[in-house]
Amino acid sequence: MNILHDERLDGALPQVDKQGLINALIAALPDLDLLYRTEDLKPYDCDGLSAYRTTPLLVALPHHVDEVQVILRICHQRQVPVVPRGAGTGLSGGALPLAQGVLLVLARLNQIQHIDPNARTARVQPGVRNLAISQAAAPYGLYYAPDPSSQIACSIGGNVAENAGGVHCLKYGLTVHNLVKLEVLTVQGEPLTLGSDALDSPGFDLLALFTGSEGMLGVVTEVTVKLLPRPQVARVLLAAFDCVEKAGRAVADIIAAGIIPGGLEMMDNLAIRAAEDFIHAGYPVEAQAILLCELDGVEADVQEDCERVRQVLEAAGATEVRLARDEAERVRFWAGRKNAFPAVGRLSPDYYCMDGTIARRELPGVLQGIAALSAEYDLRVANVFHAGDGNMHPLILFDANVPGELERAEALGGKILEMCVAVGGSITGEHGVGREKINQMCAQFSAEELTLFHAVKAAFDPSGLLNPGKNIPTLHRCAEFGAMHIHHGQLPFPELERF
Ligand SMILES: Cc1cc2nc3c(=O)[nH]c(=O)nc-3n(C[C@H](O)[C@H](O)[C@H](O)COP(=O)(O)OP(=O)(O)OC[C@H]3O[C@@H](n4cnc5c(N)ncnc54)[C@H](O)[C@@H]3O)c2cc1C
Repeated sequence: MNILHDERLDGALPQVDKQGLINALIAALPDLDLLYRTEDLKPYDCDGLSAYRTTPLLVALPHHVDEVQVILRICHQRQVPVVPRGAGTGLSGGALPLAQGVLLVLARLNQIQHIDPNARTARVQPGVRNLAISQAAAPYGLYYAPDPSSQIACSIGGNVAENAGGVHCLKYGLTVHNLVKLEVLTVQGEPLTLGSDALDSPGFDLLALFTGSEGMLGVVTEVTVKLLPRPQVARVLLAAFDCVEKAGRAVADIIAAGIIPGGLEMMDNLAIRAAEDFIHAGYPVEAQAILLCELDGVEADVQEDCERVRQVLEAAGATEVRLARDEAERVRFWAGRKNAFPAVGRLSPDYYCMDGTIARRELPGVLQGIAALSAEYDLRVANVFHAGDGNMHPLILFDANVPGELERAEALGGKILEMCVAVGGSITGEHGVGREKINQMCAQFSAEELTLFHAVKAAFDPSGLLNPGKNIPTLHRCAEFGAMHIHHGQLPFPELERF
């Protein structure tokens, strides 16, 4: 594979014999749910990032791992690209289909296979919804900690592929920190076990490598996750601020005081108003920013931490600090935050959710920068995000029906991500690169680093058939994007000049 310029990696794919592929799949798997008519394919033409759409060639909806294996084998034999898909809630176009590829939907593999309360693990199929794991573990007093706001819908397979985060990941870690073992199928349909039931295993840590690989290295067919005991108590403080930068500074102050909250989230005025209008969470709508800070653990510790956090927030200039009076109010405060994306979606025909991560100390400056860019591009931006992790989610409001607005929103989003990189941060915290942020990868990584990523991809998938055109840009694309560092008028790889 020529990783400097491979058309397949750039998303340009050869024509597939559709009827021949349908015949082969039906002959091998007569019971397979296979969609091939345009009207049946349309609902699958995008994931949660609706700005990008492609009608897939075919959609396969297997119920069993054996079926997944046969589909992969047939596609590999015929050199047909495959895009894995879980629940399709991804926000970076990771599960965006290919016009010349099969969309392999894993959502129907949705069995919880085993909960082991002694080992505190759950073994589940990839299509199990994130929240369903905690619901199944609840009778044992256990839960699965990573909790994306989409947890009611998103699948654990998708969480693994995106290394998903959530409100509670500041204290309890991302998906990668809460996995024990994966069963996967390679692009050729060969089974692999990554990780083990033991705490450590010899060899390279392929489990960590695979987590966050966005469906490009293999298809997850089973996931064993860690479960945690439910904390005895959880309390949440709501702090209001008269300016966004003060709230940003307070986030760093809380962590600097040696407190690791169960969750530490921030919303700006636009997001507060939208959420309040939608959920009636009891938010102060005049505040320029609010912080939600959850403390969990045993009663005495939580009480003491609540008092310490209150002092830090007041010292940071909070205009109001409120402790949720009871469990119902705590749940309401979080409901406002967890529904903030759909709430903001009611303000404008379209929104574009960015996902940059920066060091906490950079929050005030970057929030100022976002406000300046919002004015420059004349597009409203709502901020609602995992502040404790420095994981920002600026939501850019636009109307795709107004000529030029989508392009302006994309350009503004790109500038925000580049600003995150410029202050030492990253272009994604949890939503992945997918199709959406592929150009910004050129700003984040050097040619040498991207070459290594391609080498890893080629080790798992030598013919580049799994989810091509996503996540890792070719060096050719980076050269075109203009983000490669050019020495003395020369691109880093002389071979590039051929293209
Ligand atoms: C309202 C809303 C709120 C959100 N909040 C959060 C949040 O707080 N934190 C967060 O991290 N994300 C969040 N997301 C994004 C999204 O829910 C996550 O990225 C989630 O992990 C995607 O899971 P999914 O099952 O929908 O995957 P999909 O969107 O179907 O796929 C995502 C990626 O995973 C790959 N994939 C899916 N299943 C498999 C498999 N079995 N094997 C191999 N690859 C696979 C796909 O190819 C694709 O690259 C939010 C999304 C929405 C719409």
